[in-house]
Amino acid sequence: MSSPNEIDEIRNSVRQLCARYGEEYWLALDRHNGYPTEFVKELTSSGFLTVLIPEAYGGSGLGVLEAAAVMEEVCRSGAHAGACHAQMYVMGSILRHGSEEQKKKYLPKIAAGELRLQSFGVTEPTTGTDTTSLKTMARREGDHYLISGQKVWISRIQHSDLMVLLARTQAKEETKKKTEGLSAFIVDVKAAEGNGLEIRPIESMINHHSCELFFDDLAVPAENLLGEEGKGFKVILDGMNAERILIAAECVGDGRYFIDKASAYAKERVVFDRPIGQNQGIQFPIARCYAEVEAASLMVDKAARMFDAGAPCGAEANIAKMLASEASWRAGDVCMQTHGGFAFAKEYHIERKFRETRLYQIAPISTNLILSFIGEHVLGMPRSF
Ligand SMILES: Cc1cc2nc3c(=O)[nH]c(=O)nc-3n(C[C@H](O)[C@H](O)[C@H](O)COP(=O)(O)OP(=O)(O)OC[C@H]3O[C@@H](n4cnc5c(N)ncnc54)[C@H](O)[C@@H]3O)c2cc1C
Repeated sequence: MSSPNEIDEIRNSVRQLCARYGEEYWLALDRHNGYPTEFVKELTSSGFLTVLIPEAYGGSGLGVLEAAAVMEEVCRSGAHAGACHAQMYVMGSILRHGSEEQKKKYLPKIAAGELRLQSFGVTEPTTGTDTTSLKTMARREGDHYLISGQKVWISRIQHSDLMVLLARTQAKEETKKKTEGLSAFIVDVKAAEGNGLEIRPIESMINHHSCELFFDDLAVPAENLLGEEGKGFKVILDGMNAERILIAAECVGDGRYFIDKASAYAKERVVFDRPIGQNQGIQFPIARCYAEVEAASLMVDKAARMFDAGAPCGAEANIAKMLASEASWRAGDVCMQTHGGFAFAKEYHIERKFRETRLYQIAPISTNLILSFIGEHVLGMPRSF
């Protein structure tokens, strides 16, 4: 685990990198639904996007604590981390559940930036949060699986070479437990598109490159099965804590971005012959948001340290994600209010970040599902679904 000084060095280096991609860069991409190809390449070549890949496979071999610092700084700079964050945690499913052949085949190329693993295919239109009811089926035929079904909201697939996909290899009704009979696959996106996979972009509120996917007997080599057949739910579940901690770190970065902007503007904007920040009606909400983001940041730190120590951290990862996503949203709202009408001008950038940070109360998991996890698994109350 890195020392506080080493973490500060990571933060400083990420800040310097992000400073080369100012807010105008992100605004221009947002206007045209563009993808930050140069930014992602530089984040990869500088080793920041690959911090979690072990040194033996060409990465930096650092932990979630360091990865969280990277993602927080990316978001604090005004960037939109949603363009690239998935590579950090999707890679973990290959690392933890892949065969040695799969690790050797994919991880060094991901670390070198030759392969992009940015896509994660779980959500389906008819079943949503109820993951184990998903309907996409994979049936074995010889040395291939044939996959048919549909996914929705699958982000970055058009900017990804590989996708980790969850499908059923056994119908839910035929299993003893609903979490059985699901299998995870590594899909070569470029080979699949037009050969059983159709990709349709979704026009959405933020520039997240999310798509609908249609599978019609897509042939995936059997060697691309990730982990054991029928045990794919665990492959996905194991990556979720890292994902939640990293998303929470992004929200802390967003929250700090909003507080930096709001407090700076409150000091300089003069109305009724005094800075608006002199009015407690403006100052106190910003101060409250600061306190909330600081508290969420402590929870992110705790969850990340537990994850890196190999301790069970489902509760902490979920709590961090919920508190940070709520704190960043409130900070965004207060930042909007502080800027008055100018908050609506795109050149102030706040409205873009405000839209972007809203996502994290819904995806990758919504707040109600986190509350249900805490109620049931931490507090032992009755299961509600
Ligand atoms: C921009 C964007 C990017 C995304 N990227 C990806 C991606 O890359 N890969 C991927 O697989 N998915 C992705 N998703 C999907 C995302 O994970 C889901 O939208 C999210 O998990 C919620 O599922 P749903 O939209 O089907 O909502 P639903 O499951 O339909 O839920 C709707 C609402 O009802 C609530 N609800 C449902 N059941 C209960 C219950 N029992 N008790 C209380 N409340 C309940 C939910 O909390 C939610 O607020 C993305 C979504 C968005 C918007």
